[in-house]
Amino acid sequence: MTPTFVVFFGPPGCGKGTQAKRVAAELGLVQVSTGELFRKHLSEKTPLGQQAQGYISKGALVPDEITIGMVRERLSQPDVQTGVIFDGFPRTAAQAKALDDLLHELGSKLDLVVDFALPTSVSRQRLLGRQEGRADDRPEVIEKRLNLHAQVEESVMPYYRQREGLIKSVDANRSIDAIYQDVRDLLKAALH
Ligand code: AMP
Repeated sequence: MTPTFVVFFGPPGCGKGTQAKRVAAELGLVQVSTGELFRKHLSEKTPLGQQAQGYISKGALVPDEITIGMVRERLSQPDVQTGVIFDGFPRTAAQAKALDDLLHELGSKLDLVVDFALPTSVSRQRLLGRQEGRADDRPEVIEKRLNLHAQVEESVMPYYRQREGLIKSVDANRSIDAIYQDVRDLLKAALH
Protein backbone atom coordinates (compact mmCIF):
# COMPACT_ATOMS: atom_id res chain seq x y z
CA MET A 1 0.00 0.00 0.00
CA THR A 2 1.44 3.40 -0.94
CA PRO A 3 1.00 6.29 1.50
CA THR A 4 -1.96 8.65 1.23
CA PHE A 5 -1.40 12.38 1.75
CA VAL A 6 -4.28 14.69 2.61
CA VAL A 7 -4.60 18.38 3.52
CA PHE A 8 -7.32 19.54 5.91
CA PHE A 9 -8.08 23.16 5.12
CA GLY A 10 -10.41 25.53 6.94
CA PRO A 11 -10.75 28.51 9.25
CA PRO A 12 -9.68 28.40 12.89
CA GLY A 13 -12.39 26.70 14.93
CA CYS A 14 -13.78 24.65 12.03
CA GLY A 15 -12.98 21.40 13.85
CA LYS A 16 -10.35 20.13 11.42
CA GLY A 17 -7.98 19.20 14.26
CA THR A 18 -10.63 17.13 16.04
CA GLN A 19 -11.60 15.42 12.78
CA ALA A 20 -7.99 14.83 11.77
CA LYS A 21 -7.19 13.11 15.08
CA ARG A 22 -10.23 10.86 14.91
CA VAL A 23 -9.98 9.80 11.29
CA ALA A 24 -6.18 9.39 11.48
CA ALA A 25 -6.62 7.01 14.42
CA GLU A 26 -9.32 5.03 12.64
CA LEU A 27 -7.54 4.72 9.30
CA GLY A 28 -3.96 4.39 10.57
CA LEU A 29 -2.71 7.72 9.24
CA VAL A 30 -0.56 10.30 11.03
CA GLN A 31 -1.86 13.78 11.83
CA VAL A 32 0.69 16.54 11.28
CA SER A 33 -0.59 19.78 12.79
CA THR A 34 1.87 22.66 12.38
CA GLY A 35 0.02 24.58 15.13
CA GLU A 36 0.49 21.67 17.55
CA LEU A 37 4.13 21.22 16.53
CA PHE A 38 4.72 24.93 17.20
CA ARG A 39 2.97 24.71 20.60
CA LYS A 40 5.20 21.76 21.51
CA HIS A 41 8.30 23.76 20.56
CA LEU A 42 6.98 26.70 22.61
CA SER A 43 6.37 24.60 25.72
CA GLU A 44 9.79 22.95 25.39
CA LYS A 45 11.38 26.38 24.77
CA THR A 46 13.39 25.13 21.78
CA PRO A 47 15.20 27.66 19.54
CA LEU A 48 12.51 27.11 16.90
CA GLY A 49 9.82 27.78 19.53
CA GLN A 50 11.53 31.01 20.52
CA GLN A 51 11.71 32.11 16.88
CA ALA A 52 8.01 31.36 16.36
CA GLN A 53 6.61 32.71 19.63
CA GLY A 54 6.22 36.38 18.65
CA TYR A 55 4.29 35.51 15.49
CA ILE A 56 1.97 33.04 17.19
CA SER A 57 1.11 35.31 20.12
CA LYS A 58 0.12 38.04 17.62
CA GLY A 59 -1.97 35.68 15.50
CA ALA A 60 0.43 36.15 12.57
CA LEU A 61 1.90 33.46 10.33
CA VAL A 62 5.28 32.06 11.27
CA PRO A 63 7.67 32.70 8.32
CA ASP A 64 7.65 30.07 5.58
CA GLU A 65 11.28 29.14 6.04
CA ILE A 66 10.74 28.12 9.67
CA THR A 67 7.41 26.39 9.02
CA ILE A 68 8.58 24.47 5.97
CA GLY A 69 11.78 23.40 7.75
CA MET A 70 9.71 22.03 10.63
CA VAL A 71 7.45 20.05 8.25
CA ARG A 72 10.44 18.74 6.32
CA GLU A 73 11.92 17.47 9.58
CA ARG A 74 8.60 15.86 10.57
CA LEU A 75 8.34 14.09 7.21
CA SER A 76 11.79 12.58 7.70
CA GLN A 77 10.44 10.45 10.57
CA PRO A 78 9.52 6.84 9.75
CA ASP A 79 5.94 6.87 11.09
CA VAL A 80 4.72 8.98 8.15
CA GLN A 81 5.09 6.02 5.80
CA THR A 82 1.44 5.05 6.21
CA GLY A 83 0.32 8.52 5.12
CA VAL A 84 -0.35 11.93 6.60
CA ILE A 85 -3.20 14.32 7.28
CA PHE A 86 -1.77 17.85 7.24
CA ASP A 87 -3.76 20.05 9.58
CA GLY A 88 -3.16 23.81 9.36
CA PHE A 89 -0.54 23.42 6.63
CA PRO A 90 -0.07 24.80 3.98
CA ARG A 91 -1.13 28.39 4.73
CA THR A 92 0.75 30.18 1.92
CA ALA A 93 1.31 29.47 -1.79
CA ALA A 94 5.02 28.94 -1.04
CA GLN A 95 4.12 26.32 1.58
CA ALA A 96 1.77 24.59 -0.88
CA LYS A 97 4.57 24.46 -3.46
CA ALA A 98 7.06 23.24 -0.83
CA LEU A 99 4.64 20.48 0.19
CA ASP A 100 4.42 19.30 -3.42
CA ASP A 101 8.22 19.24 -3.58
CA LEU A 102 8.54 17.34 -0.28
CA LEU A 103 5.98 14.75 -1.36
CA HIS A 104 7.72 14.43 -4.72
CA GLU A 105 10.98 13.70 -2.88
CA LEU A 106 9.13 10.91 -1.07
CA GLY A 107 8.01 9.56 -4.45
CA SER A 108 4.44 10.55 -3.67
CA LYS A 109 1.87 13.28 -4.25
CA LEU A 110 -1.08 14.99 -2.62
CA ASP A 111 -4.25 12.89 -2.94
CA LEU A 112 -6.96 15.08 -1.43
CA VAL A 113 -7.73 18.49 0.03
CA VAL A 114 -10.70 18.53 2.42
CA ASP A 115 -12.11 22.06 2.62
CA PHE A 116 -14.03 22.63 5.88
CA ALA A 117 -16.61 25.31 5.06
CA LEU A 118 -17.76 27.44 8.00
CA PRO A 119 -19.18 30.99 8.17
CA THR A 120 -16.79 33.43 9.89
CA SER A 121 -19.45 34.31 12.49
CA VAL A 122 -19.61 30.66 13.59
CA SER A 123 -15.78 30.37 13.70
CA ARG A 124 -15.69 33.46 15.92
CA GLN A 125 -18.34 32.08 18.31
CA ARG A 126 -16.57 28.74 18.58
CA LEU A 127 -13.14 30.28 19.24
CA LEU A 128 -14.56 32.66 21.86
CA GLY A 129 -16.19 29.69 23.59
CA ARG A 130 -13.18 27.36 23.38
CA GLN A 131 -11.88 26.14 26.74
CA GLU A 132 -8.49 24.77 25.67
CA GLY A 133 -6.62 27.63 27.33
CA ARG A 134 -4.66 28.50 24.19
CA ALA A 135 -2.77 31.80 24.52
CA ASP A 136 -3.95 32.83 21.04
CA ASP A 137 -7.67 32.30 21.79
CA ARG A 138 -7.96 35.88 23.19
CA PRO A 139 -10.59 38.08 21.45
CA GLU A 140 -8.19 40.51 19.74
CA VAL A 141 -5.95 37.68 18.50
CA ILE A 142 -9.00 35.68 17.36
CA GLU A 143 -10.06 38.62 15.18
CA LYS A 144 -6.60 38.77 13.59
CA ARG A 145 -6.55 35.04 12.92
CA LEU A 146 -10.00 35.20 11.30
CA ASN A 147 -8.93 38.09 9.03
CA LEU A 148 -5.74 36.31 8.19
CA HIS A 149 -7.63 33.16 7.20
CA ALA A 150 -9.34 35.02 4.33
CA GLN A 151 -5.90 35.86 2.93
CA VAL A 152 -4.67 32.33 3.53
CA GLU A 153 -7.62 30.99 1.55
CA GLU A 154 -6.87 33.33 -1.37
CA SER A 155 -3.23 32.22 -1.38
CA VAL A 156 -3.69 28.48 -1.07
CA MET A 157 -6.96 27.45 -2.70
CA PRO A 158 -6.30 28.80 -6.23
CA TYR A 159 -3.16 26.64 -6.25
CA TYR A 160 -5.22 23.51 -5.56
CA ARG A 161 -8.22 24.49 -7.69
CA GLN A 162 -6.02 24.04 -10.76
CA ARG A 163 -6.10 20.29 -10.09
CA GLU A 164 -9.35 18.71 -11.19
CA GLY A 165 -11.22 16.93 -8.40
CA LEU A 166 -8.54 17.44 -5.72
CA ILE A 167 -10.66 19.59 -3.38
CA LYS A 168 -13.70 18.13 -1.61
CA SER A 169 -15.84 20.44 0.47
CA VAL A 170 -17.45 19.52 3.78
CA ASP A 171 -20.12 21.54 5.58
CA ALA A 172 -18.45 22.13 8.96
CA ASN A 173 -21.49 23.88 10.45
CA ARG A 174 -22.89 20.61 11.82
CA SER A 175 -22.30 18.19 14.69
CA ILE A 176 -18.88 16.56 15.07
CA ASP A 177 -20.41 13.15 14.24
CA ALA A 178 -22.21 14.36 11.11
CA ILE A 179 -19.03 15.98 9.80
CA TYR A 180 -17.08 12.85 10.66
CA GLN A 181 -19.26 10.61 8.46
CA ASP A 182 -18.39 12.75 5.43
CA VAL A 183 -14.73 13.08 6.36
CA ARG A 184 -14.32 9.33 6.80
CA ASP A 185 -16.05 8.57 3.49
CA LEU A 186 -13.79 11.03 1.66
CA LEU A 187 -10.64 9.63 3.26
CA LYS A 188 -11.63 6.02 2.64
CA ALA A 189 -12.20 6.80 -1.02
CA ALA A 190 -8.76 8.42 -1.24
CA LEU A 191 -6.81 5.58 0.42
CA HIS A 192 -4.60 3.48 -1.81
P1 AMP B 1 -3.35 26.52 14.54
O1 AMP B 1 -3.25 25.61 15.74
O2 AMP B 1 -3.34 25.79 13.24
O3 AMP B 1 -4.50 27.49 14.65
O4 AMP B 1 -2.01 27.39 14.55
C1 AMP B 1 -1.69 28.25 15.63
C2 AMP B 1 -0.70 29.31 15.16
O5 AMP B 1 0.52 28.69 14.75
C3 AMP B 1 -1.14 30.14 13.96
O6 AMP B 1 -1.98 31.23 14.32
C4 AMP B 1 0.20 30.59 13.40
O7 AMP B 1 0.75 31.64 14.18
C5 AMP B 1 1.07 29.37 13.61
N1 AMP B 1 0.97 28.45 12.44
C6 AMP B 1 0.39 27.22 12.42
N2 AMP B 1 0.50 26.66 11.20
C7 AMP B 1 1.16 27.56 10.43
C8 AMP B 1 1.55 27.58 9.07
N3 AMP B 1 1.28 26.55 8.23
N4 AMP B 1 2.23 28.68 8.62
C9 AMP B 1 2.52 29.70 9.44
N5 AMP B 1 2.16 29.77 10.73
C10 AMP B 1 1.48 28.70 11.23
